[in-house]
Amino acid sequence: MNELSDAKIEEIRAGLLAWFAANHRDLPWRHTRDPYRVLVSEVMLQQTQVDRVIPYYERWLALFPTVESLATAATSDVITAWSGLGYNRRAVYLQKTARAVIENHRGVFPSSLEELVNLPGVGPYTAGAIAAFAFEQDVAFMDTNIRRVVHRLVFGSDIPTRQATEREILAAAERLVPEGFGWAWNQAMIEFGALQCTQRRPACVVCPLQRQCAAFPEIQTDIAELPVGVRLKNEATFHGSNRQFRGRVVEELRRSTSATLAELGPKVKHDFAERDLPWLYGVVSGLKRDGLVTIKEPAAEYDPDSPVPDLVVALPD
Ligand code: SF4
Repeated sequence: MNELSDAKIEEIRAGLLAWFAANHRDLPWRHTRDPYRVLVSEVMLQQTQVDRVIPYYERWLALFPTVESLATAATSDVITAWSGLGYNRRAVYLQKTARAVIENHRGVFPSSLEELVNLPGVGPYTAGAIAAFAFEQDVAFMDTNIRRVVHRLVFGSDIPTRQATEREILAAAERLVPEGFGWAWNQAMIEFGALQCTQRRPACVVCPLQRQCAAFPEIQTDIAELPVGVRLKNEATFHGSNRQFRGRVVEELRRSTSATLAELGPKVKHDFAERDLPWLYGVVSGLKRDGLVTIKEPAAEYDPDSPVPDLVVALPD
C-alpha cells in the first residue's frame, strides 16, 4: 500500500471532486434527497445499467410516488411494475422495506446506518447510499465501482487479484471522505468508477489522478490480460444458472395469472420434458421462498421418489 498521507488525501479529494463537477451525468436521482426515491434508484441500479434504469425509475415513481403507496400496493402489481428490469425479487424486497418503514418507523425513514441496515432488504451498501444521498452524511460504503477505485488509488492494481482486504479498503475509503461533502464525494466515486476508472479499460492516460494513483504504473500492462477471460466467465455463469428461467416463469405468470407446472414447463424451456419437472419444481420453490410466486396446490415438499404433483403456481395476491 502506498502511504495515504494527509497531503495525498487532499490531492485525491480535490482531483476527484473537480473531475465530478466537470464530467457527471445529469441523472434524475441526483435531484432528490427523498430517502424513498434514493432507495428506489439504488435498488434498481444494483443489477441494471443506468440508461435502462431511468425510464423504469420514472415510471415506478408515477405508479408508487411515496413509501406509503408502495407499502399498500398489491405485491402482484409491484412485481408487474418491475417487469423488464430482471432480478424480480428486488421488487419484493423493495416493498418489504417500504412496509417496514410504515409499520416500524411511522412512515419516516430512519437516518442512522444502524437503523437503515436493519430494514429488510437493506444491506450495508444501500444503507450507506441512503445515509449519503438522502441525509448527506459523511459515510463510506462499498459497491463494485467504489471498491475498485479505492483499491487502485491506495493499494495498486486489483488485477488479476486484489492486494487488500475488504476491511482495509473500507478503512481507506472512510479516510478519503471529505468532511461535509458526503453526498458529492460518494456520487463522484461511483461516477468515476463507471466512466473513468472502469474495470476493463480505465482511462489512465487522461486521468487527473495519475500522480496519486498507486495502480497507474502497473495497470496498463495487467489490463491487457483481462477481457476475454472475464467475458467468457460471465457468460458461462449466466447460462449455467437458473436466473433466466426464474425470470421466464414470472413473465409467463404475468401473462396467464396462474399455471400448472406441466403448463409452465414448455413455456419457459423449449426442450422441456417430464424428467424436468423436479428441476422446474426447484425453480418455482426458489421463487416462492423469495415471495415472487405462490404455490396453490399441495404444499408438501417434493419427494424425489414420487412423481411431482402438478402444482398450480401463481403470482402472489
Ligand atoms: Fe483509475 Fe487509471 Fe486513474 Fe488510477 S490512473 S485512478 S487506475 S483511471
